[in-house]
Amino acid sequence: MRRKRSLKIVATLGPASSTYETIETLFKAGADVFRLNMSHGAHDEIRERHQIIRDIERDLGRPIGILADLQGPKLRCGVFKNGPEMLEKGASFRFDLDDVEGDASRVQLPHIEIFEALQKDATLLVNDGKIKLRVKDCGKNFANCIVEVGGEISNRKGVNVPDVVLPLAALSKKDLADLEFVCNLGVDWLALSFVQRPEDMAEARELVAGRCAIMAKIEKPAAVDCFDDILAVSDGIMVARGDLGVELPVQAVPPIQKRLIRGCRAVGKPVIVATQMMESMIDAPVPTRAEVSDVATAIYEGADAVMLSAESAMGEYAKEAVTIMSSVAEEVENDPNYRVVIQNSRTRAATSVPDAITVAAREIAETTDIKAICCFTESGSTALLASRERPMVPIIALTPKVGTARRLCLAWGLHTVVTNEVARFKLAVVSAARAARNYGFAEKDDNIVVIAGIPFNTPGSTNILRVAPVDEAKILAGESE
Ligand code: ATP
Ligand code: MG
Ligand code: MG
Repeated sequence: MRRKRSLKIVATLGPASSTYETIETLFKAGADVFRLNMSHGAHDEIRERHQIIRDIERDLGRPIGILADLQGPKLRCGVFKNGPEMLEKGASFRFDLDDVEGDASRVQLPHIEIFEALQKDATLLVNDGKIKLRVKDCGKNFANCIVEVGGEISNRKGVNVPDVVLPLAALSKKDLADLEFVCNLGVDWLALSFVQRPEDMAEARELVAGRCAIMAKIEKPAAVDCFDDILAVSDGIMVARGDLGVELPVQAVPPIQKRLIRGCRAVGKPVIVATQMMESMIDAPVPTRAEVSDVATAIYEGADAVMLSAESAMGEYAKEAVTIMSSVAEEVENDPNYRVVIQNSRTRAATSVPDAITVAAREIAETTDIKAICCFTESGSTALLASRERPMVPIIALTPKVGTARRLCLAWGLHTVVTNEVARFKLAVVSAARAARNYGFAEKDDNIVVIAGIPFNTPGSTNILRVAPVDEAKILAGESE
């Protein structure tokens, strides 16, 4: 099983995608990584979904990435007695601290800090800014508001107070518990919400202690300001456009998206473009033209992955949303103009030997007829360098570590394969050739490029490149290595 595109797709799991069958359908339709949002769903639910993904991985024999997304210091309302409520323009609505299910007139907002900091005439935004309310009257434990822009409010929707600075820690008590829970469960990526400073990442990294890779969600103005420093201490980045477009004017989001993608591409760290990519598909079987164009733009910009949130978590057309994203990627990547754009936006690699080898592999792929770049990787760093080059042939990342294979599922263009440990380069070439044939990347008379580090099992030691035939007999007949 192989994808016919380099872009990766992340699908958030939720009530609409919680069974083995639906998750398998999403994987087969094209989801490469599943996102477990710790803001929604109890630990039991998360554990169950995690197990289902691992079962599917075992049954289909393909590595699948799991990304756990920590809520962070996000303000959320409580739950509603009778499901979603419609807030009409001009109506009154109250937020308070009462731990009682909400209705059309009020809901709990379990954050005492907000009420302490709120003032009359402040703006409250709900659900990534879709609903807007103005404070008319407030006290230590309540705020009576007027709805200025109406919309549907439902359980645990995010609430932003753009005019007010709130004193919140980067990792809440809930985040600390969730972090430990998902690390013990065994996830491949951990995303941190509302990161503001590089120190926030450092704190999480210490707690994670190497159990998974960590990604910063960029959704605060402060994080945009010190993006380079945050990137330096992160393994990946999410352009979290939902909250970003609430914390900053919406028109500020596209230039930031471009800048973040460029920054990530320059250093070869995976970047996800997230939120509202196929939003209308929550309840429609086809996306708007604008949504298709948005996904295409992210691909032309060179993003590693695009993400579905509510579309796959609670939408009726989760499978269709994945399928359409996948087709958009295939179409864009087949556009000759895409190659030009990607080539022109590539920056120079660093000066290390592994960098030079991956650049050489890409150049060979551009000038000769080879079918794939096969890359042996322990920690995943060489495969990420190969991905950074955005070559025009597929990259097969071979690793003895299943954790590495899963983590790399997020990176542009990498087809990850778990292999046995190999002791000699010739055997590595044999297993690369087999993988290239088995997964349909090459046929008997084709050639591939193989890159590896000798001696094996020393991370970051990539120092050898070979153009090899796929034909095993020819490899074995070659000079001894
Ligand atoms: P974030 O800011 O982390 O993106 P979010 O509330 O926007 O949080 P998403 O994961 O983007 O959450 O999903 C969008 C919506 O889909 C949520 O607001 C929620 O209504 C619904 N949803 C997502 N995951 C779940 C889940 N596991 N259980 C219930 N509802 C969910
Ligand atoms: Mg968010
Ligand atoms: Mg969201």
